[in-house]
Amino acid sequence: MAVLVVGSIALDSLETPFGKRDDVPGGSATFFSTAASFFAPVQLVGVVGEDFPQEHVDFLKSRGVDLAGLTRAPGKTFRWKGRYGFDLNEAHTLDTQLNVFGEFRPELPASFRNPDLLFLGNIHPELQGLVLDQVEKRPRLVAMDTMNFWIAGSREALLKTLARVDMLFVNDAEARQLAGEHNVIKAARAIQAMGPARVVIKRGEYGVMLFDGEHVFAAPAWPLEEVFDPTGAGDSFAGGFMGYVSQRGDLSLRTLRQACVAGTAIASFCVEKFSLDRFRELDQQQIAARLAAFKALTHFDEIA
Ligand code: AMP
Repeated sequence: MAVLVVGSIALDSLETPFGKRDDVPGGSATFFSTAASFFAPVQLVGVVGEDFPQEHVDFLKSRGVDLAGLTRAPGKTFRWKGRYGFDLNEAHTLDTQLNVFGEFRPELPASFRNPDLLFLGNIHPELQGLVLDQVEKRPRLVAMDTMNFWIAGSREALLKTLARVDMLFVNDAEARQLAGEHNVIKAARAIQAMGPARVVIKRGEYGVMLFDGEHVFAAPAWPLEEVFDPTGAGDSFAGGFMGYVSQRGDLSLRTLRQACVAGTAIASFCVEKFSLDRFRELDQQQIAARLAAFKALTHFDEIA
């Protein structure tokens, strides 16, 4: 069963303490769909400009992503420029150019109108809402992501979309900003009251917390010595999470807790190299080995 994603497709320019890259493939839909493709079929809705290199489209195709919802529009591709200091948990946005996203009105092809799971990736919240309007029957799970850019700049539209979804993926600083709460637990509870029964708070190298109704689950991040470029970790986490849920086919707590670990494992690969580079060489054996190592990492026996 397919996961449908709408989100940004970007050319990113990045500076990390380990190097610089210009105009590399990025964007929420790009990272999400690549990560999810390791677990389940993915359908992508998005737009690129005339300048978006065909090789990046071909890469998504090679991952089996269904690109019937990808439009190439006149103009330039969405661009994001970011810098990370020694604290790799915090991205500093230097520039955001919406370009073709300024005019984009997503239109779902007929084959995309009945997704099992829907992920409204980080993009203008009105565009997220437009995609939700076009699905014919309510997907089993509608999840969304967002970021400070939209929380600060398009709050009303964001709250409207948020009220229509089942689950929000958000990082800790953004959860605080959205909820107006310092404490992340209180922030998650406040966000649940805005609509989504489930909230995942992404805490970078400190892991994730899943709030599902009253239930709370926490997973650490995989302890990597070499974090090269954190860009895309959040979207890769969400892709691994939703892809795993799609593969399992149920929304039990057991599955959602496992999905947190599947997302964590995929995100840990993403950050080992710039852009999508680590995903180009990733295979199922490497994923299985990391999942097994993760189980060992977090296991403990009953305490007497
Ligand atoms: P993350 O997974 O949170 O690290 O997201 C990284 C991706 O978000 C980058 O590849 C950017 O292209 C994309 N991005 C940055 N700002 C925005 C924005 N305002 N709207 C949509 N996508 C964005």
